[in-house]
Amino acid sequence: MEKQSLSLFVCPYCHGVLKQTYVHGDFGIVRCMCDEYPIVAGILFLQKNEAMTNRRVVTRIRQKQYAQALFMLLDGTRIQRFLLFCLFYLRFHFRIYISRMRVLQTLRIVSPNASWFRYLLHRDTDAEISATASLLGSFAGQSSIILDIGCGIGHVFEVFQKKHPTFSGRYIGIDKSPSSLLLARLYMDITHFQLISCSVDIGIPLRDSTVSCVVSLDSLAYIHAKKMVIKEVCRVLKTQGIFYILHMYTNSPKTRFWGYGMDPKELKKLLMCDFQSFSFRNIYTSTLQYGLLKQTLDRANYSCVARKL
Ligand SMILES: [Zn+2]
Repeated sequence: MEKQSLSLFVCPYCHGVLKQTYVHGDFGIVRCMCDEYPIVAGILFLQKNEAMTNRRVVTRIRQKQYAQALFMLLDGTRIQRFLLFCLFYLRFHFRIYISRMRVLQTLRIVSPNASWFRYLLHRDTDAEISATASLLGSFAGQSSIILDIGCGIGHVFEVFQKKHPTFSGRYIGIDKSPSSLLLARLYMDITHFQLISCSVDIGIPLRDSTVSCVVSLDSLAYIHAKKMVIKEVCRVLKTQGIFYILHMYTNSPKTRFWGYGMDPKELKKLLMCDFQSFSFRNIYTSTLQYGLLKQTLDRANYSCVARKL
């Protein structure tokens, strides 16, 4: 990981700076005041759990057992992890390319959570993702930093990159699931993309006032500490930066009530503590709304732009 990129991040637990102490291609080790964390397949893993996964993976990397480190880090069922593991080696060691659609279709068949993979299969053709990518491009400059909370397999960035091929800034994708991030890593040019595996419920591992835009697509409803996370978003945003929130659960059948959306009035109340200007709109009816009460918002299908003044 480049020194310049690493300097943007802090440890979410002790808030100390991170220093890279070991590097071997896409694998490495970073250290802060409180612990060590691994970089596996280019993904910086800033999580601690009861199983001490971070330390166990760090040990494997130190012993140069990179394949074991990758397998240990992945989440999901054993067969899911095995498929992703094979995919990584086929792609980067044997140069065998298998399309993402085929991979998602296979995962849908072998996984107990088929509706999740069906949801992912519908994502990249969604018009709202295209609109989000355009909006991010209009707010962020060519060399600015964009943060995607709950980036999953990187759909927004993928569309953003197609629309803005000359973007020279950093697009930071945070997600709890290393397996989702590995799927992003496999199908993306990561020259300007940094993947972080971390739970934002602890905090956002970025320095103050570093990013121009924060996007949260179908992820805020799943975050437990919403008030704290919104405060964190405000902290990492630069002045005049925007927080773009989307809830759009109906793009595939059975997904509408996954997170039950989020009441827009409750969201506005939470945002009001840290943000000063908002615009809400219903997705799929596309009338831009200032304020909340002119039209009833569909709690499962709306977007909100909040600006830090
Ligand atoms: Zn630390």
